[in-house]
Amino acid sequence: MVGLPLAEVSSGSAQGEPPAPKRKLKVIVAGAHPDDPESGCGGTIARYTELGHEVAVFYLTRGEAGIRGKSHDEAAAVRTAEAKKACEILKARPVFVGQIDGSAEVNPARYAEFARMLEAESPDLVYTHWPVDTHRDHRAISLLVFDAWLSAGKKFALYYFEVLSGAQTSQFRPTHYVDITPTEAKKRAACFAHASQDPDDFYEYHDAMNRFRGMEAGRKYAEAFVRHAQSPDDSLPLAL
Ligand SMILES: [Zn+2]
Repeated sequence: MVGLPLAEVSSGSAQGEPPAPKRKLKVIVAGAHPDDPESGCGGTIARYTELGHEVAVFYLTRGEAGIRGKSHDEAAAVRTAEAKKACEILKARPVFVGQIDGSAEVNPARYAEFARMLEAESPDLVYTHWPVDTHRDHRAISLLVFDAWLSAGKKFALYYFEVLSGAQTSQFRPTHYVDITPTEAKKRAACFAHASQDPDDFYEYHDAMNRFRGMEAGRKYAEAFVRHAQSPDDSLPLAL
């Protein structure tokens, strides 16, 4: 199994006190809707932040279309609060990109806007949706990130995550795994912060994925990723 650049720790001893990172990484996890970054990457986000790295979670939209019977403004207010609560659990910083759920746009102006926002963060690593996905907004953020990565001269590492594989993400063949056994409880809590999204239902699906990826990786729970082969190689072995 190939490691993911999760941690550059000052000692290899592990257990107990989290070691201070030698180099603090800036990680961006970019999802389309509140609950996407958490369900695709929540365990990995918590592993980074527990090690002292900085994670910003980009939400392309506020999930405006995601609560039946509520107006866009009402749903956005509820789901923004849920996203903030989830980020608090994961010790990450939420950033709202400002597009609208169900109507995400990919055009030259949006590419430029998104590239500016990403550039302002100077990330070392960016995670986003795998582009072969049934949801248009998932495909939109994936393309916005990819374009920003090209504009930035491919200077940050680019990884793709999966959501509801089979139902949404498809044709996803992982290249990397992160053991999320130590942070699965935080991931679960962050997903359940999205109370408006029927977490009992969607987390059951992700629980199966975490277990299956864990089986593949030889751990109880894992998250799986595809690394863009042209990412700068700052991969560091993940101690498993
Ligand atoms: Zn989504």
